[in-house]
Amino acid sequence: MAETIYDVAIIGAGPAGYTAAIRGAEYGLKVALIEKQERLGGTCLLVGCIPTKALLFNAELWDYLKNAPEYGIDAIGTPALNWTAVMKRKNVIVAKHVKGLEFLMRKHKIATIRGAAQFTGPAKDGIHTLDISGAGESGGTGEKTQLKARNVILATGSSAKMLPGLEADDRILTNIEILSLTEAPKSLIVIGAGAVGVEFGSIFRSFGSEVTILEFLPRLVPLEDEDISKELARVFRKRGIDANTGARVEKVEKTETGVRVTYTDANGKSQVKEAEKVLVAVGRSPRTDTVSIERTKIELDRGFVKVDEAMQTAEPGVFAIGDIVAGFPQLAHSGSMAGMVAVARIAGRPYRPMRRDRIPNCTFTEPQIGSVGLTEAQAKEKGHEVKIGKFPFAGNSKATIVDSHDGFVKIVSDAKYGEILGVHIIGPQATEMISEAVVAMDLEGTVDELMFTVHAHPTLAEAMLDAYGAVEGMAINA
Ligand code: NAD
Repeated sequence: MAETIYDVAIIGAGPAGYTAAIRGAEYGLKVALIEKQERLGGTCLLVGCIPTKALLFNAELWDYLKNAPEYGIDAIGTPALNWTAVMKRKNVIVAKHVKGLEFLMRKHKIATIRGAAQFTGPAKDGIHTLDISGAGESGGTGEKTQLKARNVILATGSSAKMLPGLEADDRILTNIEILSLTEAPKSLIVIGAGAVGVEFGSIFRSFGSEVTILEFLPRLVPLEDEDISKELARVFRKRGIDANTGARVEKVEKTETGVRVTYTDANGKSQVKEAEKVLVAVGRSPRTDTVSIERTKIELDRGFVKVDEAMQTAEPGVFAIGDIVAGFPQLAHSGSMAGMVAVARIAGRPYRPMRRDRIPNCTFTEPQIGSVGLTEAQAKEKGHEVKIGKFPFAGNSKATIVDSHDGFVKIVSDAKYGEILGVHIIGPQATEMISEAVVAMDLEGTVDELMFTVHAHPTLAEAMLDAYGAVEGMAINA
């Protein structure tokens, strides 16, 4: 039988990899998806976005139930949190979607190969050969095989960084261990106030943990617009979260029953904080050291893969997508769109190159954050004369109905032509509402157009309309 030569072999079955696989098959390409873990889905589905947001749903319900009588719901007794059931529901959700992915692979006739792939060298006559080792965590046969493909897409993802000298266990946690705790900790120290840190801090505060956040930089969610950081800090304080910025962690030690963290605070004073658990959320490293990249011409920038506008690396026929790509955020939706771009290029179909300033950021805290484009500071740095429109959810009737008045919508626009440079939302359903802003910016909508775009009533989205009006000093509800 003739040897199979795939049109594309994709290494890694996270959202970037599986999206590329499905779209590739939809284009009629012969696709192989190689994954070393037993289950498809990658960090996002197994130990990231999906299980975390499942917990967030429980946390939100729990927050509402705490105030049940206020909403006219009496006689529910004393609400009690059944942690085992919370974890079970999360695991069922993950398992359901892993099954869903397996179904999609079969439906699209994608060859799913369990094993770890490595380059054997550059392509020969346009064909890449990968070594596939089925041993280790794959649960495979341990056999070494080879696979040939005209194109390879690297989608190997990232791993949580650890502080020097520490190892994750049942008290020193990363995003992985924190998702299988046997109960909600009484106290939790979170190191790092990026998305991982603030999300888990927010969720476990809802579950009753005493939460301390230690962030090295001067503000929470430091990549967001400064006003967003300020509002998050205000609401976190109100919720009883002890959020410390400008905090330099010096030492993390284990005590008899928990952990002790020594840090230097913003005033240069040494502080000690003890807790049951500590979450280390200080960023993620790209997994680019496991596929023998050095056997190819692929160029790296501090461990991240350099790509062109079609996600192609310096090695012809090799593409990179997802958390390993230089210059792109480590977000599932960024990776999956990059996957669609790469396979479109491979299939010779039209595509739109990705733009960094059109990728939304969504942080699933209470309150939620959704943002896209330039912050006010970035817009000014780029030389724009900016005009800002800001509308608080306090003026939105639907926000009153859902009892969620914190936060605002902030529009950063260019004063000259009304171009929308950035939209920053903190408040109820911010992660859903940001999609409107992404589409508006992608279609080059201006403030003038959007302030005359009908938004349904009564919705949270009306806060967008008011924020566009506010750019011209003409919000209706404030
Ligand atoms: P991050 O890089 O976004 O944030 C890490 C934070 O830790 C930074 O603010 C940094 O200043 C701080 N930090 C680093 N070292 C420190 C130290 N020694 N002491 C105190 N603070 C320190 O990383 P993350 O939050 O771990 O997330 C990793 C990636 O995954 C990010 O790209 C993030 O956007 C993504 N992610 C996104 C979501 C989402 O979109 N909802 C959720 C989870 C993760």
